[in-house]
Amino acid sequence: MNDQVPKFPEPYWRIDMEPFDFPTLSEDTSCEVVVVGGGIAGITTAYLLQKEGKNVVLLDAGVLINGTTGHTTAKITSQHGLFYHELIQHFGKEKARLYYDANQEGLELIESLVNDLGIDCDFSHEDAFVFTTDPDEIFNIKKEDDAYSELDINGGLIDEKTLPIHARAAIVMRDQAQFHPVKYLNVLVKEFVKAGGTVYENTTANDVKTGERPRVVTRDGHEVECDYVVAASHFPFYDGMGLYYTRMHAERSYSLAVKTSKPIATGMYINVEDPKRSIRSTPGADGPLMIIGGEKHKTGQGVDTSKHYEALAAYSKELFPDGEILHRWATHDLITMDKVPYIGHLTKKHKNIFVATGFHKWGMTNGTVAAKIIRDGILEKDNRYTELFTPHRMKADPGIKEFVKENANVAKYFVKGKVDMVRRKPEDLTSDEGGVVTVRGKRAGAYKDLDGRLHVVDTTCTHLGCECEWNDGDRTWDCPCHGSRFDVEGVVIEGPADKPLKKLDLD
Ligand SMILES: Cc1cc2nc3c(=O)[nH]c(=O)nc-3n(C[C@H](O)[C@H](O)[C@H](O)COP(=O)(O)OP(=O)(O)OC[C@H]3O[C@@H](n4cnc5c(N)ncnc54)[C@H](O)[C@@H]3O)c2cc1C
Repeated sequence: MNDQVPKFPEPYWRIDMEPFDFPTLSEDTSCEVVVVGGGIAGITTAYLLQKEGKNVVLLDAGVLINGTTGHTTAKITSQHGLFYHELIQHFGKEKARLYYDANQEGLELIESLVNDLGIDCDFSHEDAFVFTTDPDEIFNIKKEDDAYSELDINGGLIDEKTLPIHARAAIVMRDQAQFHPVKYLNVLVKEFVKAGGTVYENTTANDVKTGERPRVVTRDGHEVECDYVVAASHFPFYDGMGLYYTRMHAERSYSLAVKTSKPIATGMYINVEDPKRSIRSTPGADGPLMIIGGEKHKTGQGVDTSKHYEALAAYSKELFPDGEILHRWATHDLITMDKVPYIGHLTKKHKNIFVATGFHKWGMTNGTVAAKIIRDGILEKDNRYTELFTPHRMKADPGIKEFVKENANVAKYFVKGKVDMVRRKPEDLTSDEGGVVTVRGKRAGAYKDLDGRLHVVDTTCTHLGCECEWNDGDRTWDCPCHGSRFDVEGVVIEGPADKPLKKLDLD
């Protein structure tokens, strides 16, 4: 990593945030609803249901708001890149409009909570722009403009010369928003607890014993009996034969927080082409910062991940020559086959288990929509978005094509990891270096820390047996098949894996 980029990752949103320090579940208990996952989807669901008088328990495997939500870019918008033309093609005009309405309602709910609860979270209204510098993409921006007109979306083509960044074409969606996600959710958590909700941190849910009163089983063997389970654990912690790992992939992206004397004061920007570039500002504690994101790739398939940070740093230098990179971080999100999230009953037969996943890097609105749909499902109220987001949809186009592509990619990485020749030994590593090595003739993973200690693990992912790859930017082991991530000791950072990598003893 070059020295413009900070040595260790640290998301801007979590700096100076006091951790909650909720207890770990240490006995069996019961309630009406168990929500698993303390990100935007889980916390909003728990909050809304507790406010409706349900007795809710919220579990998180680590600490709250430290998953993807703690590492996001936090634009609150219904403009999800160029998406509406594609939505009309695949789902028809009516459903494309429903998708827009649902996300607008997500935005409105966030704004009303900010106002009603007086949350100080740097919420501001902003226009959202998709731009391109690639002449081949101008046509796609025009098609998106047609979709905006057809769906009566507030926005359309704009004169790209009015933008503060170089572009050859651009489309705007008016009156969207941005915020500080951790400040916002911190207050929702406090309000949830004030209303009688219970939170357990460092409590990993491993399984569900299904039945009329399902029981969520934790890794420590404790059970929470309830009427309803909500899997808001990013990747669903319980699959129930829903085969979610065959229907989604994980995509990783990188972010920088940059201090500059000439920040872009308004607007949120994202480009069409690769490499992806996303830009927004945030007030910052000591003056405005620019959040610059991008460099997407499938989790575990990025090879030298520090190169992605360096590429973003170079882009930041072009935009802000005097810019100083104060923080860097990376995270991944899940993408379904048709890019519309899976929200609703886990499978057709699981009427008391709900899932919210696959937010396609637009989870601020989609995660909030999920909370509303699941709240209404549990309260047995109609919700006009239920059918659009149901996880049981399976449309021939693009579903089947994407299904085949997705699983061929998994098979490729499954085989590749098993046959790759590795000659390095753990002792060949230098300080702060990790990588795949050979231990007693077998593939293993090793990291030599700054004190010279070796941390050696079996790289076989405990989910479905693919071989994890070293992520040098974050110093983690990432699975290229389904996106599970592990720290240098093999501890699970992100699922679907719920068991650690096996540690290897060199003696
Ligand atoms: C780089 C990047 C930029 C993005 N920018 C934007 C943006 O600008 N706007 C936008 O709308 N969206 C954006 N997104 C997407 C958005 O951040 C995510 O969709 C959203 O944060 C996901 O929220 P979540 O609640 O589903 O998951 P998370 O925030 O990951 O929360 C899940 C929680 O579940 C817990 N958990 C997992 N497994 C278990 C288990 N077995 N037991 C108990 N707990 C468990 C985890 O510890 C975690 O706390 C971005 C995504 C990426 C990758």
